[in-house]
Amino acid sequence: MADKPEPSFRESVDLMFSRAVALMDLPPGLEEKIRVCNATYTVRFGVRLRGNIQTFTGYRSVHSEHMEPVKGGIRYAPNVHQDEVEALAALMTYKCALVEAPFGGSKGGLRIDPRQYDEHELELITRRFAYELAKRDLIHPSQNVPAPDMGTGEREMAWIADQYARMNTTDINANACVTGKPLNAGGIAGRVEATGRGVQYALQEFFRHPEDIAKANMAGSLDGKRVIVQGLGNVGYHAVKFLSEEDGSIITGIIERDGALFNPKGLDVEAVRNWIVNQGGVTGFPDAIHTADGATVLEEECDILIPAALEGVINLTNAARIKAPLIIEAANGPITAGADDILREKGVVIIPDMYANAGGVTVSYFEWVKNLSHIRFGRMQRRQEEARHQLVIDELARLDTAMGDAWSMTPEFKSKYLRGAGELELVRSGLDDTMRIAYQSMREVWHERGDVDDLRTAAYLVSIGKVAASYRAKGL
Ligand code: NAD
Repeated sequence: MADKPEPSFRESVDLMFSRAVALMDLPPGLEEKIRVCNATYTVRFGVRLRGNIQTFTGYRSVHSEHMEPVKGGIRYAPNVHQDEVEALAALMTYKCALVEAPFGGSKGGLRIDPRQYDEHELELITRRFAYELAKRDLIHPSQNVPAPDMGTGEREMAWIADQYARMNTTDINANACVTGKPLNAGGIAGRVEATGRGVQYALQEFFRHPEDIAKANMAGSLDGKRVIVQGLGNVGYHAVKFLSEEDGSIITGIIERDGALFNPKGLDVEAVRNWIVNQGGVTGFPDAIHTADGATVLEEECDILIPAALEGVINLTNAARIKAPLIIEAANGPITAGADDILREKGVVIIPDMYANAGGVTVSYFEWVKNLSHIRFGRMQRRQEEARHQLVIDELARLDTAMGDAWSMTPEFKSKYLRGAGELELVRSGLDDTMRIAYQSMREVWHERGDVDDLRTAAYLVSIGKVAASYRAKGL
């Protein structure tokens, strides 16, 4: 295996795409039309910093415009390149189609190590990058709507939104030009946690299907399952926080830039997160074994492996040694096409990235709708819903009195039932529904078609089918 060449990230996406389209009956030429990236814009711009002009390179790639706006995050990383951004943009197309978010796929990247700059410098750089993109409509509420990705978050999205608004002073929908903004700057409750929350909902849905659990040679529920996560950033942190706090999973391994922590009895996610914030890494964290070569911990025994950092971390060099029976790709492209072949042969079940991390774009979709409708979700219904629930509670209270000691309403029921849903509850409910329905559409293909033996191919079949239908409807 070792002398087989490792495909690049974009080649991996193309190979996986091709495996799926080989099973489809697409009209001639449409396959190529869907596969290729429509356009990639490269920009080099200078920013005066520390007395010098520093030149930065950024990209915004548009993969498919079968639906507009196109959507996808902007990542800040020192090694961002065109190939990577194009692969990520393609994944966005398939992801949006799979979870029925009405967008085409796009992605952006800036070649920068954000840890080398202070906040003011990052603001100058981000605003200049946003200016370059917005002036070419590569940031625009109805054409191209970025979001956070690796190395960016709410803060950068707020700068981008403000920069766009300054350039488009009369655009009433300016706030919808980017998602993942802070709540007080046009954001939506639940966006920060959304991708990790989506990973949790995806696993919950997987564990609702005994047949699927059996395919991974497992049994039971998420309770007590041993989890190893790579990357305790936005996505990884929220995923393992919710799995440990709400589903009873045990987080036995956390892999970060400066090594990995391992404790078979379970790690306290919140304590590790605080340690990283205060110490700059996991090194020195008490109550755990520290391994300097963190990536080797991907190969430890566990039930569920969650790569939530980078692409290509499970590849031809380590795939054969991976012991987890179930891998959920919280990061984009963590498993190369070659590693995917090895793992499938071993019977490992892989919940693919285009589904597993779609929680982010799903809640971004809700945020975009909120921005366009200029009203918070739940604002009109909440109190009316509570008033109707009060009628039921009043009737039950009467019954309670009439029944004496024979029956009484539980106090928790009253308080839970009375509370109308606010924005956060509605966002979580919409996300849960999206993750369940998308999983079911994949598993139907997985179980019903004799020629599909993995969830990734099933996911591609569902999403390419939807993109193709959309092109056909346009007469292409
Ligand atoms: P982030 O920057 O918040 O976190 C990344 C984490 O990975 C950091 O804690 C970092 O220290 C760690 N890391 C970096 N290099 C590492 C290495 N070599 N080994 C171990 N850990 C390492 O980024 P994020 O937003 O959580 O994104 C992570 C992945 O999820 C990316 O692939 C991204 O494309 C994908 N994703 C993110 C979102 C989102 O909403 N943020 C949505 C969909 C997909």
